[in-house]
Amino acid sequence: MLGMGKLGIQAQARIAIVLVLSLVLLLVGVLYLKQVQMHGRVTEFTRVTLHDALLEHMQRRASSRVTEAAEQLANPLYYFDLEAIGRIVNTIQKIPDVSYVFVFDKDGRIIHDGSGEIASYGEKMQDPLADSVVSATTATLQHGDGFIDASSPILLGDERLGGVRIGYSLESLLAGEAAALDELDRQMERIARQHRLWIYGLMGTIALLGYIILRLVQSRYTRPVKQLADYAHAIESGRYEIDIVPSKRSDELGDLERAFARMSVSVREHDNEIRKLAYGDPLTELPNRHGFRNQLEIYLAAAGENTRLALLFIDVDNFKRVNDAWGHEVGDNVLREITGRIRQAIEKISGKHFSGEIDLARFGGDEFVILLHSREDEDQSISKAAKHLAQRLIEVIAQPVKPEASDVEVRLGASIGITVFPDDGFSAVALLKNGDIAMYQAKAAGKQGYRFFNQSMASSLNDRMKMEQSLRGAWARGEVSVVYQPICQMKSRQLMVVGAEALLRWKSPEYGQVSPAIFIALAEESELILSLGLDVLRTACQDLASWRKQGKQYAGMFVSVNVSARQLQDGKLPEKVEKILANIGLPADALHLELTETMILEDSGKVNETIRRLRSLGVRLWLDDFGMGFSGLSHLRRLPVDGVKIDRSFVDGMCKEEGDRIVVQNIINMAKDLRLTVVAEGIEDPTQWQALRDAGCQLGQGYWLGKPTSYRGILGLLR
Ligand code: C2E
Ligand code: MG
Ligand code: MG
Repeated sequence: MLGMGKLGIQAQARIAIVLVLSLVLLLVGVLYLKQVQMHGRVTEFTRVTLHDALLEHMQRRASSRVTEAAEQLANPLYYFDLEAIGRIVNTIQKIPDVSYVFVFDKDGRIIHDGSGEIASYGEKMQDPLADSVVSATTATLQHGDGFIDASSPILLGDERLGGVRIGYSLESLLAGEAAALDELDRQMERIARQHRLWIYGLMGTIALLGYIILRLVQSRYTRPVKQLADYAHAIESGRYEIDIVPSKRSDELGDLERAFARMSVSVREHDNEIRKLAYGDPLTELPNRHGFRNQLEIYLAAAGENTRLALLFIDVDNFKRVNDAWGHEVGDNVLREITGRIRQAIEKISGKHFSGEIDLARFGGDEFVILLHSREDEDQSISKAAKHLAQRLIEVIAQPVKPEASDVEVRLGASIGITVFPDDGFSAVALLKNGDIAMYQAKAAGKQGYRFFNQSMASSLNDRMKMEQSLRGAWARGEVSVVYQPICQMKSRQLMVVGAEALLRWKSPEYGQVSPAIFIALAEESELILSLGLDVLRTACQDLASWRKQGKQYAGMFVSVNVSARQLQDGKLPEKVEKILANIGLPADALHLELTETMILEDSGKVNETIRRLRSLGVRLWLDDFGMGFSGLSHLRRLPVDGVKIDRSFVDGMCKEEGDRIVVQNIINMAKDLRLTVVAEGIEDPTQWQALRDAGCQLGQGYWLGKPTSYRGILGLLR
């Protein structure tokens, strides 16, 4: 693409050829002029030379003739034999070009003039040359107007008898000369004509050659270069699908064409790779967020009156723990397995419950999105299909996963948010946000469930920033409190409180009672959890100190406090804990810190160092929610903890499923082997209590034993 003011190769070639042609023509023109000049000079030179040569020839002839005549005339003149003189004169007169003959005496009087009656006899010669002729002592040549006068004295011995004069006319000499020059001119003109023909031919040939070169340049160079430029332009504007025919040329341009073809292929491949990376997920080979978004935009742009879309946002619960605990390889295998299950679930519903298109994408670590797309949906069947699919997904994802090449069995769950176009939103941005909100709600409602988006969700969760802002000053305003859930000894038949778990509560004037699942996550996203965590620790330790004073049997009571990953990563935690304990005057073993596997297994030197220092203080570390997500019990050996809390879900399941009972039994057995304290969480009825007692569980916690209550509530329990 040539801009204004730029000259293309073809134009340049044309100009170059025109320039060369003009130069050649100029040269030819100059040559022609030189030739015309030379023609003139040659003619002039020839004329002069010819004239001189002819004149000289005539002069020599005249000279020798007059000398010969003088000799012949000597005797006849001596004897004055007029007859003999006349004979000689007549003979001379007959010689061509001779116009007159005069014989004269020593005084210059005419003796014979060649005529029969000698009309001028005795007259003195009167012409302008006469005097020099009479006085000459040797043969003399003189020129007159159009003639040559040759004269010679006639001598007998030393005596001068007279003289003879022969006049030669130059007329025929000049005529012959003119004829010769005419002929020369004709010949020169002929040669010049021939030259001109040659020059015209030459010029024609050069012009033809120029034209041929131009066409050649065009077809051999300009066109291929222009073609390459067009290809480059196409590639530049992202049209990689052009196919460049591989060149068969063997010259540099062929090399260039081939290099260009190779380059375009590699650009295309790179582009595909980049596209794959940018729009696809290499692990599952599903489109990623960007790829999905593009597809969604396409559907939305083409959406008609009856188009319906349903987006299912699937978040795999607890997946991060799998990754952290078993490494990324196991995590990847689990994700592939989950992807396969989602695909199967999709296959199951498509056709039967849903006739439109279904797209699946992976958004991030453990987030999948399914898009149901229907062009004709008048009876809201898309919502039914989405609901059906969500139920099915929750079921199949909850099935234990056994990743290949590992002895692990992983238990996961799924929280699903569903949003529908056009009911919930018109734009991709709105739909993606709504889906996220609905999913977050499903998670907050206790995981393993699905939620359809509704506008009230958007308004309550829309502004998490606002909520975070409000949480910031909540402790100072007294909105946040610590409640305690009693932890009981299980050996004895009667319930005996030996400790309590501190749990945060936030009652916001704006949001009401906010679930710790929501506000703790919010606090963890910011640094807020650091100060909030310290507040809980201080309060719990103070409260414990006062309980301990209630009686001898409570002197050994403990409090357990939940610690977030963010707090562990902050290397100052051991110092702060030590200070709090010292200020309040509590022994370190009165404080139990609840950590999760994820936090401990994080491969970070800082976290390991914090854990080591906490333990060396004498603080007890408990593993919270153990067994949740996976059941790699052998793993327990490697964890630097003093106790485990069996997750509520196992306690809940142990009386219903044999598998769960076995898991609980194994945890208890192994913990005992490892001399770890075992706490069962979420005991909700006496059957569970009994079953756990039978299994040998040491400590228990749950609504049946005591719901989380205030400091005073615990005080009442102790009294
Ligand atoms: P968690 O540490 O596993 O706490 C136990 C949760 O189980 C508490 O929920 C408790 O109210 C609930 N629970 C106790 N017994 C039963 C039962 O018999 N049945 C049922 N269904 N639930 C029972 P809560 O108070 O909503 O706390 C949720 C989570 O929030 C906690 O799980 C903990 O991880 C976190 N959390 C609470 N307070 C704090 C805190 O001060 N710091 C940190 N970092 N996390 C906290
Ligand atoms: Mg806990
Ligand atoms: Mg727990």
